[in-house]
Amino acid sequence: MYGIAMAKGLLVTLKNLAKKPFTVQYPEERVKQHPRFRGEEFVWYEERCTGCASCAKYCPLGIIKIVTTPSETAPAEGDKYRLEVFDIAINQCMFCGLCVEACPYDALFMGSGFEQGQYSRKEMVIGIDQLRQAEKRPSTFFRPQLEDAGYDPKDGRPLHWEEVGRESWQWHQREKAGMMIDRPVPSDLLPQEPPVDSSFVEDSQAAPAPTPGEEAE
Ligand code: SF4
Ligand code: SF4
Repeated sequence: MYGIAMAKGLLVTLKNLAKKPFTVQYPEERVKQHPRFRGEEFVWYEERCTGCASCAKYCPLGIIKIVTTPSETAPAEGDKYRLEVFDIAINQCMFCGLCVEACPYDALFMGSGFEQGQYSRKEMVIGIDQLRQAEKRPSTFFRPQLEDAGYDPKDGRPLHWEEVGRESWQWHQREKAGMMIDRPVPSDLLPQEPPVDSSFVEDSQAAPAPTPGEEAE
């Protein structure tokens, strides 16, 4: 009969009238984010990054641009390269996280922020300096070591590069990145070293410092 549909619609309205709303008044109110939330930013640890470009190769949209040059202090093939360019065109990103999954050194993490709106496409390319300076609050997406530690990027403190990996950070210090960047380890990190993977136990022994004569060879 004519008008029944309207009555049914009003009934739905009446039924929900007294219920608590599911929506919040953003930005004054915010819903709690899951620690695995993939925001529109990235957390990059230069100290862990070897410049292998696996992240760029695995990105299905090809929006990560990496340019490296051989480092003078570690010129042998397989050693660390100096990162000249590390651009991510965030305006084209679909936040699939494949670049993060592809990174073998736990150097790249999804971020948890989502308020990066800009007025031009050009401004939506995250450059290497922005990545360097960004606050290090990584999402726990594809990082079970952070999830196991109960880390929450919204409530927790920023994390240092020594504490975000799956293996001993000393391994990176000797073989990969830490040796290249002279930044002191915060003292509160030293006693809380993450569990060492048995396959890296041998590697985690500190290597003797090369003499000036050896370096020249
Ligand atoms: S999240 Fe996906 S689309 Fe975005 S940069 Fe990484 S691999 Fe590319
Ligand atoms: S972020 Fe990871 S995958 Fe990308 S270049 Fe650095 S080490 Fe390689």
